[in-house]
Amino acid sequence: SREWHLVARPQGWPAPDDFALVETEVPEPGPGQILVRNLYLSVDPYMRGRMNDVKSYAPPYALDAPMHGGAVGRVVASAAEGVAVGDHVLHGLGWREYALVDAADAVVVDPARAPLTAYLGVLGMTGMTAYAGLLRVAAMAEGDVVFVSGAAGAVGGQVGQIARLKGASRVIGSAGSAEKVRLLVEEYGFDAAFNYKDGPVAEQLAAAAPDGIDVYFDNVGGEHLEAAIGALRVHGRAALCGAIAQYNATEPVRGPRNLGLMVGRRLTLRGFLVHDHQDLRPEFVREVGGWLRDGRLRHRETVVEGIENNLEAFLGLLRGDNTGKMIVALPAQ
Ligand code: NDP
Repeated sequence: SREWHLVARPQGWPAPDDFALVETEVPEPGPGQILVRNLYLSVDPYMRGRMNDVKSYAPPYALDAPMHGGAVGRVVASAAEGVAVGDHVLHGLGWREYALVDAADAVVVDPARAPLTAYLGVLGMTGMTAYAGLLRVAAMAEGDVVFVSGAAGAVGGQVGQIARLKGASRVIGSAGSAEKVRLLVEEYGFDAAFNYKDGPVAEQLAAAAPDGIDVYFDNVGGEHLEAAIGALRVHGRAALCGAIAQYNATEPVRGPRNLGLMVGRRLTLRGFLVHDHQDLRPEFVREVGGWLRDGRLRHRETVVEGIENNLEAFLGLLRGDNTGKMIVALPAQ
């Protein structure tokens, strides 16, 4: 069995030498444990933060130890009640071929109800982030003008479409290529979209939303956040979900220069973590599951094959190689 270890803490962009693919023995499950052959591994932007040795909402990855993250696999041995060989489970020990998981930390999922990759994306953590962030944290209401950055990614693509389905009057997205911009408008039903690499975000946003915006869903931070604050109307709200533009920064990043606008416009900027909103899960699964079945919600996945390409998939995610959820697929044997 092979697993990825962090062997040095990256400075700036992670380098291949900061990681090692290590060969280990396949373990036997002890009481209450299951052995899982991982089939799909998630790579997520938050993993960059776990590579730093700083105090955060989650402890950092340890050096010379396997990294972890969302994964779905098939149970190949079980010493736990209620989980049988052949079951499929969602769990938190990705970045490896075989995972020894406490059954209490695994959730049995049904491949007949949704493709296994959906449990990592559209019906999983990123989907919940979109749903909770837009509807609860930003309190999007019918008639709002909504702007989302990182709009062709897993979270962002779902945010824009949920906004449309919940009656936003106008949905605007930004992404990093002409092809992604086309996807947003032609397939996801955004009213307008722009490539943030084509020119200043504030100017492109003003052209796309001449009367301003009510809600901003921030996946990017930096220039995007400042531009959105400039565009928010009275009582506007922003859900601060991530700031991927600065995850590889080596120096502290300057904040938005226009926070003074928050007073007169009575703005709310609110950060959140999806973990705090798990009470919404039943509602999320019912509503998003329904839209998926009806074909009213579209989603893409970018699938990279092989454990040896797990790191490259993660780096590709930071570069924007993905459209929709980035996933690593492993062979069943
Ligand atoms: P995505 O699928 O959106 O992938 C990341 C995308 O970020 C890339 O595809 C790339 O697209 C874009 N990107 C990279 N660098 C930049 C940059 N400098 N400026 C603008 N865009 C950039 O990932 P997720 O959907 O998984 O995550 C989206 C955001 O949500 C991240 O910030 C993540 O940290 C956050 N998040 C927060 C959670 C929470 O609980 N708060 C939970 C889950 C995710 P492009 O080609 O458009 O540049």
